[in-house]
Amino acid sequence: MSTESFAFCPRCAKPLVERLVADDGGAVNRRACPDETCGFIQWGNPVPAVGALVEHEGEIILARNRAWPDGWFALVTGYLEACEDPKAAVVREVKEELGLDVVETHLIGNYIFQRKNEVMLCYHAVATGTVKLGAELAEYRRHKPAELKPWPRATGFAVADWMRARGLAFEFVDFAASAAPRK
Ligand SMILES: [Zn+2]
Repeated sequence: MSTESFAFCPRCAKPLVERLVADDGGAVNRRACPDETCGFIQWGNPVPAVGALVEHEGEIILARNRAWPDGWFALVTGYLEACEDPKAAVVREVKEELGLDVVETHLIGNYIFQRKNEVMLCYHAVATGTVKLGAELAEYRRHKPAELKPWPRATGFAVADWMRARGLAFEFVDFAASAAPRK
């Protein structure tokens, strides 16, 4: 995971230390291997992931992951396989999680997901077929495009940008604040 903090060097197993590492913008304190010949530095680069705003029969499908509280619905998301094209990842994830076949993908934009140090590459994915939920999802909801309520975070900004591009009025609603916590 992108927010993972190593205690030991993943190359040579020495305990990592904080040290000043020179960068274009000056020196920055980073976790690094004390062994100069090893040279490992934990850069903390964000990890890319894809998000799919799935359109099916003219409606938008939002899904709730099994790990999420009741009332949380968002885009279908997933990590890229090694060297995988983001569009191919969208097609694969939508098939795995909703059982649908993506026939068109359009990039909406790229959004930072701060809490997990990820960059979400968000696509509008037009899909056909019959919905069959995969193992990761608990349930899904269908929405008319004009009735979507974007959430003020990560993939929610993609929903807002998608609506804005279509001239649809919207307001942000934070499901994380309003939803009852899961038992
Ligand atoms: Zn090392």
